Amino acid sequence: MAAGDPHLTSPALGCGESPNTVGYGLHPRSATNMPGEMDRPLISHHLVESNSSLAEVPNQAFKVGILGSGDFARSLATRLVGSRFSVVVGSRHPKRIAGLFPSGAQVTFQEEAVSSPDIIFVAVFREHYPTLCGLSDQLAGKILVDVSNPTEHEHLQHRESNAEYLASLFPTCTVVKAFNVISAWTLQAGPRDGNRQVPICSDQQEAKHKVSELARAMGFTPVDMGSLASAREVEAMPLRLFPGWKVPVLLALGLFVCFYAYNFVRDVLQPYVREGKNKFYKLPVSVVNMTLPCVAYVLLSLVYLPGVLAAALQLQRGTKYRRFPDWLDHWLQHRKQIGLLSFFCAALHALYSFCLPLSRSHRYDLVNLAVKQVLANKSHLWIEEEVWRMEIYLSLGILALGTLSLLAVTSLPSITNSLSWREFSFVQSTLGFVALVLSTLHTLTYGWTRAFEESRYKFYLPPTFTLTLLVPCVVIMAKGLFLLPCFRRRLVQIRRGWERDGALKCALPEDCALAEKCSHV
Ligand code: NAP
Repeated sequence: MAAGDPHLTSPALGCGESPNTVGYGLHPRSATNMPGEMDRPLISHHLVESNSSLAEVPNQAFKVGILGSGDFARSLATRLVGSRFSVVVGSRHPKRIAGLFPSGAQVTFQEEAVSSPDIIFVAVFREHYPTLCGLSDQLAGKILVDVSNPTEHEHLQHRESNAEYLASLFPTCTVVKAFNVISAWTLQAGPRDGNRQVPICSDQQEAKHKVSELARAMGFTPVDMGSLASAREVEAMPLRLFPGWKVPVLLALGLFVCFYAYNFVRDVLQPYVREGKNKFYKLPVSVVNMTLPCVAYVLLSLVYLPGVLAAALQLQRGTKYRRFPDWLDHWLQHRKQIGLLSFFCAALHALYSFCLPLSRSHRYDLVNLAVKQVLANKSHLWIEEEVWRMEIYLSLGILALGTLSLLAVTSLPSITNSLSWREFSFVQSTLGFVALVLSTLHTLTYGWTRAFEESRYKFYLPPTFTLTLLVPCVVIMAKGLFLLPCFRRRLVQIRRGWERDGALKCALPEDCALAEKCSHV
């Protein structure tokens, strides 16, 4: 930090801290344009404290440097200029690219660009860092903001983060890792249209604070990630691709493939082999629509099965202080995603069913049935039992989907945050179980007496719905069992900390260490 910098030492800043701690030439709008909700973290690190006294502004704008003139540099310059900062861009070919930057930004050679600002963004790729070594003398004592993102390959290849590498090349500078999770597009469109959180880490508290204030002034929410040693973790953030969803999606896909193959064999292959009937037209709509409810139903039961297994394990062990096996712990953690996928499949099933009458095959089937009726001289077709079955079946399906939608909506973070713990557990646990029971009744009314008709066992394979009933029925029966006073009382006791005599004595030494980790029930 240049000691004599008028912007940072001027009492007009009124930072309320020692003159060399905080203070940028921020416009009042940029210092105050942070709505309260933006301070709420999405990831579990505490936010850097805000300095409300920044509202007092010096006359001159604070100067920020940018090395590099690519996509990120251009978007960053636009945002900084929009936030009333003075921007100087350092390029190897300033004349060639000057026209691409906002008129408020000065574009010049690298040497000139780094001479006056105290904070310089390094918007170049890691492999080009060494080409900046010629600027070492001018950069001495300044803050370098590393915005780089490694590719997956680079992340695995280098043990040291890009920011630590930059720090090793410029030992006289203070390196701050920041803004790498913000895309050039978000920078240009503004924080309202994308992720607002900017994880920041550095070994120097003061430098971190300054970059945090800069981020805040640009409309972002800084999140303190600690020392530069966290840079690897920060650089890994943009590489994540729905980490919590991988297993649930694979599970849903696996179930879909299995049930689709099973339905294909029963409803397409069997008529073709046995009767020579071509029913391959069923593959795109009919078989898919038969498969989706199976997947949705089994997935829903898999949301509640781990809870049942955990309760059984606690009853058997007589304590809640022993850790569940890893597979059960992971399963418990993925219940939300499995539940949402179940809702997704159920919603698709509803949509397919709704559109089914639009298909040509369905219309031809109806016409053919009518012709058959006429030929058979039957004027009135009405099977009372079938009518009742369908009415109840449809109604139960709609109710189950409605309840599932409620579960899905309440799992949105904004809604979850507005519910008390009791309300949340009522919706997720009680209503979820109600959805499972309604889905079971929906499946049973669909099946009706078909499970007992020999003609339904094509290739000796039982109807698909009988298979889907297996896991949900186990869950419902186990839940019912745990409601019996003898089990219920014991479970409540265990969850309040009661332990059966010697429950922990059975634990092996390594289990004791693991028991300290929290479980997910
Ligand atoms: P880019 O468009 O390829 O720009 C890279 C810039 O590096 C070039 O314009 C070049 O500017 C400069 N440079 C300096 N020395 C160089 C050399 N020896 N060889 C080649 N170029 C050199 O890349 P970008 O998308 O702006 O990304 C820049 C950095 O920001 C990267 O580290 C990236 O990981 C990070 N980032 C990008 C985004 C994004 O959305 N694009 C988001 C987050 C982070 P001059 O020719 O003017 O010197």
